[in-house]
Amino acid sequence: MLQDGELLRDHGYVGGQWIKADSGESFAVVDPADGHEVGRVPMMGAAETRRAIDAAAAAGPEWRARTAKERAAILRRWYELLLANQDDLAALMTAEQGKPLAEARGEVVYGASFIEWFAEEAKRVYGDTIPAHLPGRRLVVTREPVGVVAAITPWNFPLAMITRKCAPALAAGCTVVIKPAEDTPLSALALAVLAERAGLPAGVINVVTGDAVAIGCELTVNPIVRKLSFTGSTEVGKLLMRQCADTVKKVSLELGGNAPFIVFDDADLDAAVEGAMASKYRNTGQTCVCANRLLVHDRVYDGFVARLAQAVSALKVGAGTEAGVQQGPLINEAAAAKVEQLIADATAKGARVVLGGKRHPLGGTFFEPTILADVTPAMACVQEEIFGPVAPLIRFSAEAEAVALANDTPYGLAAYFYSRDIGRVWRVADALEYGIVGINEGIISTEVAPFGGMKQSGIGREGSKYGIEEFLEIKYLCMGGL
Ligand code: ADP
Repeated sequence: MLQDGELLRDHGYVGGQWIKADSGESFAVVDPADGHEVGRVPMMGAAETRRAIDAAAAAGPEWRARTAKERAAILRRWYELLLANQDDLAALMTAEQGKPLAEARGEVVYGASFIEWFAEEAKRVYGDTIPAHLPGRRLVVTREPVGVVAAITPWNFPLAMITRKCAPALAAGCTVVIKPAEDTPLSALALAVLAERAGLPAGVINVVTGDAVAIGCELTVNPIVRKLSFTGSTEVGKLLMRQCADTVKKVSLELGGNAPFIVFDDADLDAAVEGAMASKYRNTGQTCVCANRLLVHDRVYDGFVARLAQAVSALKVGAGTEAGVQQGPLINEAAAAKVEQLIADATAKGARVVLGGKRHPLGGTFFEPTILADVTPAMACVQEEIFGPVAPLIRFSAEAEAVALANDTPYGLAAYFYSRDIGRVWRVADALEYGIVGINEGIISTEVAPFGGMKQSGIGREGSKYGIEEFLEIKYLCMGGL
């Protein structure tokens, strides 16, 4: 399957060594498209994690002592290796995650872009001098790496969620222990192979696979770890934040969302449909910034539904490796069952299935791209993150009503709206309680802009000039007696 078979690993990576679990046990990684075993990885627990943390701590002083330019040069090589191995990384990702190959290839470039960006930012971690408050003093502010970082990542972007955390951490001079999701550890291990080839010293990055609870517990309770960067569900994020409290770690959390996608009556409907398709159905609806509910103005509702249905019915469902496929399988049976249950709840409460609504004839976890009309906030699909290819459409008739509906959620990650009225654009952009707002745009993710949520969608930002701050401590030096 791969041009470079070395990228498929069945060992974890700790202190520069490729190791098995202490118990010798491993678990299977399966292809969600057909259930076949793609590979096996070690079933590690707390003991191996402790050793990874110790390795990261041991590697810390030498790594942080290097100049930013030296760290940047290694990161740059890592970035180039990702691009050089784009085909293999994409094939591995599609095999373990299911996304269409074109999307997997896109993710390799997107994931690599964070390494390039933060390699550049490494050299721009500036301090400050502050005009003194008293004579004979000098006040100086420096920035230091926070220390050992734990990165716990999800399966929906098996590669980019790792580089988005590791690149700024490494650029800042931190060392990292990564725990990838159980469903998609192979991409993480392939990244470690390339990191090693790029010249990252032993212990600077470590990957432990296995028992999420045991590994997560060690990573959050161990006092050597100074920072947790987590992307995943709100429920697990809250648990990990609690576990970090006793050792007062810095935390960055990128959690669930409930993105509204608002189409006002002055919107360019073709652009809105195009944006909705990209935002809703990318990665088969399995992204935390996927449109979760579409709020459409009464006057354009029927026209929008018709155009959206036309676009959605043209989507090609199938295995990610098949040419032209746009919708892969859902990640696992639990995900498919949840989508089924949300549709059943909505239809029982009066929603109308415009398109799809059930499992795809391909079987397994394949699901038909679905549109639900006449949806109301009483339905679970409006309150919960769907994480599947289902677009629930809600009708509204006033701007204030749409904004109130959009904000009526504990989440605050991404929101989208379509309007060509400049006054409305500013009013609504200001009123939305979201960390990311796409205005006449359905795709908002880039390494140059801050990604992150308000309210219960998270803490901190990833990417951009702000992203590196999460891995830095501020130190204030007060010099007297001058
Ligand atoms: P999702 O719903 O996207 O699978 P999760 O929050 O369950 O989100 O998973 C995100 C990451 O968190 C994965 O790497 C998973 O293994 C990890 N995880 C899940 N439960 C725990 C836990 N109790 N402690 C630490 N990590 C966990």
